[in-house]
Amino acid sequence: MSFINICRDNTDPFYRYKMPPIQSKTEGRGNGIKTAIVNLAEVARALNRPPSYLIKFFGYELGAQTQIQNDRYLVNGAHDSNELQDSLDGFINKFVLCGSCKNPETEIVLKGKDSLERDCKACGKITLLDPKHKLYSFIVKNPPDNKKGKKSATATANVVGGGKSISDIASGHSNNNNVDGNDSSNLAGNGVADGAGDDEDDDLLAKKINAEVAQLGDVVEVKDDEWAVDMSQEAIAARARELEGLTLQNNKFDEFGEWLLKESKDSKDDLPSDVEIYKRIVELDIGDSPETLQVLGQVLFDEDIINQIEPHAGLLAKLINNDDEFEKSLLGGLERFFGLEKPKKC
Ligand SMILES: [Zn+2]
Repeated sequence: MSFINICRDNTDPFYRYKMPPIQSKTEGRGNGIKTAIVNLAEVARALNRPPSYLIKFFGYELGAQTQIQNDRYLVNGAHDSNELQDSLDGFINKFVLCGSCKNPETEIVLKGKDSLERDCKACGKITLLDPKHKLYSFIVKNPPDNKKGKKSATATANVVGGGKSISDIASGHSNNNNVDGNDSSNLAGNGVADGAGDDEDDDLLAKKINAEVAQLGDVVEVKDDEWAVDMSQEAIAARARELEGLTLQNNKFDEFGEWLLKESKDSKDDLPSDVEIYKRIVELDIGDSPETLQVLGQVLFDEDIINQIEPHAGLLAKLINNDDEFEKSLLGGLERFFGLEKPKKC
């Protein structure tokens, strides 16, 4: 079973917030027909909300009675998974996503006797929930148990038991629940580039890269007018579609992108050297994939991009190696980067 984005409108390749799609089955027949939401507890856990909020929400939205029998979550009537998933989008928009930045890493906090706030871990803003929704009074009567220091306190940390957000990684928080046993908290620690005895190798590699880049000639001069790339609407849309294929499944690219984001969380000046970046690319064996350029297009630069392209020109030129497809991938990554700078839906 593959996971889906918590905010289903979001197609950002770095979107970390995943949940299992709703699985349901109908039981009984005639007037007694019911829909059991088989994995409601897992979905609720991914959203960091009590399962009772979700089942109540379905009841209100679908106009149906609901029951919780031990660990079974039932809605009266026949409702297919798509209908429930669409309804869940409403829950996520109204009761999970931050009202300001639309990040799902939020907590509902009861203030005073009957005021509900949504506290965003990502942007720090506090936004209010809609008091007119029927679920509001249910939550007031059954406030969430937000214990301090509780593990998996946010949507991200709950993902598949081992998920971590880029912000978690950047702030050095590790998560011990990694189900796959793959300790990615060592992301930056595994690189051969970190060994003290590697300086000599680095020098050699730098020389090798520079020598190879020199052979590439003009490509090193990255100037705007040399990006001879199709800028038609169709071509941009096609590149965007290719980007959407770059999802969490592509763990190597994910790991690569997160590593660079982590290293440069304070400033793009802290980025590893191009030699270190290149070594990591070799280590991950992603040098032959255009997606590597998409990642670089999104993580190497900030608002000072005009001055940041040239220092990386050698690395980019080496990776692109006069290949149109790779050049387009970089452009696709840059388009995504510029797109993310603008306000987006979530
Ligand atoms: Zn926020």
